[in-house]
Amino acid sequence: MAKAARILGAQVERFRPVDALYQNKDHWVLETEKGNISAQNVVIAASFWARELMAPLGLNLPLFATQHHELITEEIPRIKEMDRNLPAMRDSYVSCSVRQEANGLLAGIYESEPEFWSLEGIPKDFKEELLPPNIDRLASHLERLCERMPAFAEAGIKLVNNGPMCWTPDGLPMLGPMPNQNGLWMASGFNVGIGTGGGAGEFLAHWMIQGQPLFDLSSVHADRFGNDMTTEYALNSIRKVYARGYQLPNSI
Ligand SMILES: Cc1cc2nc3c(=O)[nH]c(=O)nc-3n(C[C@H](O)[C@H](O)[C@H](O)COP(=O)(O)OP(=O)(O)OC[C@H]3O[C@@H](n4cnc5c(N)ncnc54)[C@H](O)[C@@H]3O)c2cc1C
Repeated sequence: MAKAARILGAQVERFRPVDALYQNKDHWVLETEKGNISAQNVVIAASFWARELMAPLGLNLPLFATQHHELITEEIPRIKEMDRNLPAMRDSYVSCSVRQEANGLLAGIYESEPEFWSLEGIPKDFKEELLPPNIDRLASHLERLCERMPAFAEAGIKLVNNGPMCWTPDGLPMLGPMPNQNGLWMASGFNVGIGTGGGAGEFLAHWMIQGQPLFDLSSVHADRFGNDMTTEYALNSIRKVYARGYQLPNSI
C-alpha cells in the first residue's frame, strides 16, 4: 500500500513518532523529534496508542488492548496433498477462527475471559513485539478444537503468537471525523485490521474528499461512544464483545 501511495505522489515517513498534536488556527501541528509537521487534515490510525495520544485534546477514547493468541501447526500431509486451499472457518463451539497457513492450520482463539494488556498505559519502549504466550489460558478451547477438528489434534504446534489487539466497547473500529476538531479524523480501534483495513481506508478517503461517507457508516462513526465513558464500563463491554465474538447470532 505504501508503495502504491508513493507512486501516486504520497510521501511516507516511517520511524517518526508524533509526540503531541494541537490545532493552530486552521491547521494541525504535529510535534516530532525531527521537527514539526503542519497539516490541514490528520488521520489518527494509531490503534491502542491513540487513547493516550488524544487525551491531551480532551478526548476520552475507549480504546484498550486485550492479549490475543494464535497457534500455527506443523505441516499436515492431508492439507499438503490437496489441490486447493481450505476455506477460512469461524467456530462458535471452540470460539476461534481457523484458516490454512502454508500446509498447516492457523487458529485464532477467543477466550471467554480475555486478558487485558497494559491498562496503565502503553510502555514507551513497546515496539510492536509479541508478548509471552500463556497457553494454559487456552486449554479448554484447544480441547474443543481437537474434538472439532481431529487433523488439528494430530498436528504438532509450530508456533504460538500472543499479541495485543485493540478493542472498542462494541468491537467495531472508530472511523471518520471527530466532532469539534476540524480536520481530525479517526481510523483506530481495529481488531481485524488486516481484513478490514483496506476497505476502511477506501471509505475514509471517500469521506474526506467528498465530505460524506459513501454508505451509512454510523455503526463505526468515531463519535458514537461520546466522551464520558468510564474505563470500567468500556472494559466490561470489551470483555463481553471479545467473548461473544464467535457465537452464532441466535445464541447471543
Ligand atoms: C496474534 C494476532 C493475530 C491477528 N490475526 C489477525 C487476522 O487473522 N486478521 C486480521 O484482520 N487481523 C488480525 N489481527 C489484528 C490486526 O493485527 C490488527 O487489527 C491490525 O494490525 C490493526 O491495524 P492498525 O493499523 O489499526 O494498528 P497497527 O497495525 O497497530 O498500527 C498502528 C501504528 O501506529 C503507530 N503509532 C502509535 N503511536 C504513534 C505516534 N504517536 N506517532 C506515530 N505513529 C504511531 C504504531 O507504531 C503502529 O505502527 C491479529 C492480531 C494479533 C495480535
